[in-house]
Amino acid sequence: MERTLFGEEHRIFRDAFSKFLQTEAVPNYDRWESQGKVDREFWTLAGRNGFLCPWASEKYGGSEADFLYSVIMAEEVARHRVIGFMLELHNDIVGPYIDRISNDEQKERWMPRIINGDAVLAIAMTEPGIGSNLAGVRTTAVLDGDEWVLNGQKTFISNGQICDLVVVVARTDPNAEPAHRGLSLFVVEGDAPGFRRGLNLKKMGRKASDTSELFFEDCRIPAGNLLGEAGKGFYYLMDNLQQERLVIAVASQVEAEWTLGETLAYVKEREVFGKPLSTYQNTQFKLAECATQIELGRVFIDRLIADHMAGKNLSKEISMAKWWITDMNFRVVHECLQLFGGYGYMEEYPICRAFRDFRVESIFAGSNEIMKHIIAKQMGLSS
Ligand SMILES: Cc1cc2nc3c(=O)[nH]c(=O)nc-3n(C[C@H](O)[C@H](O)[C@H](O)COP(=O)(O)OP(=O)(O)OC[C@H]3O[C@@H](n4cnc5c(N)ncnc54)[C@H](O)[C@@H]3O)c2cc1C
Repeated sequence: MERTLFGEEHRIFRDAFSKFLQTEAVPNYDRWESQGKVDREFWTLAGRNGFLCPWASEKYGGSEADFLYSVIMAEEVARHRVIGFMLELHNDIVGPYIDRISNDEQKERWMPRIINGDAVLAIAMTEPGIGSNLAGVRTTAVLDGDEWVLNGQKTFISNGQICDLVVVVARTDPNAEPAHRGLSLFVVEGDAPGFRRGLNLKKMGRKASDTSELFFEDCRIPAGNLLGEAGKGFYYLMDNLQQERLVIAVASQVEAEWTLGETLAYVKEREVFGKPLSTYQNTQFKLAECATQIELGRVFIDRLIADHMAGKNLSKEISMAKWWITDMNFRVVHECLQLFGGYGYMEEYPICRAFRDFRVESIFAGSNEIMKHIIAKQMGLSS
């Protein structure tokens, strides 16, 4: 179905960003996978070319671009499958927290660096014992004179090795009832005393994205690095989830479309028992099923993008899109890989990497079970 969301300026931007990825990311991607992280210089290049937080105020170096520019970038990163480059984490998840919650002095300090590529962002919520149940965060922050002192451990933190600024969720009130009212957000600079990066964790997929343990051992940061008000951290996190999950679903949709395109080309070319694989009814039915699901996803996601831009509250619908599209994406890559036979299991074929890379999308940014919990709650089925 034809997409109607984008105008001429968006098309020009898409071409420019796509060329940037083709020249600066694609040729380096295998190396980034081997070293377990994207080159830090690539982030600087992305910033200098205007691809970091283009929605931000011109006052700090942004372009005040609409949300469709974020959609285009998430789509192109997915289409080129350089998804170890955690652009949406910087642009659409952490950047907006800092921009929305920080005061003028903090914005002056951080936003220009975030936009020009001098500061790569990360967000540290998850702890070894705390994942889905964020209210249970154990990392603490205590005010000591004009400094906050942080103690605790985080894990699975994307960009953990390369980040220059990390937004940390910590407990400032151990007695708060309910517990989530005791959480606050802090910005920790990469060179803060007492901040230590642990292992770059070995993963199933997305190997070009560094994922780390982080340690805070009497880590001292200025009092002015508290984001917003103490005790409101949980609410700030919830406020941004709609956009965060929408962007994950946007990327996942494009990945499924890419998989179908690759597989269509392969089954037409590959011959089995003297005939193209595409002529067998099993192949046709499998791909017809995949194409139908992909089409449903496309219509749903484009409608959500438009409604999100119109300022609608879509927490139920976006939770639906996040679970359904990420599950659909993995179903599609699972079915399609089968049609590649043994070649699908070989690294030489991009679908092999895609199978590993796409798996995590039903786990992170709120697991798909948590999405169903949110939907059920909004249906009045649970409290
Ligand atoms: C590659 C990768 C990158 C990540 N990047 C970041 C990052 O940058 N920053 C960050 O803070 N975190 C990050 N995470 C962590 C991620 O957000 C968590 O893994 C996720 O929230 C799930 O938490 P958990 O792993 O502790 O699983 P658990 O919470 O232990 O869940 C285990 C299982 O139980 C299910 N479950 C949990 N609660 C319920 C419930 N109430 N009802 C039914 N089922 C339930 C879950 O859906 C899951 O299937 C990343 C993870 C990965 C794998």
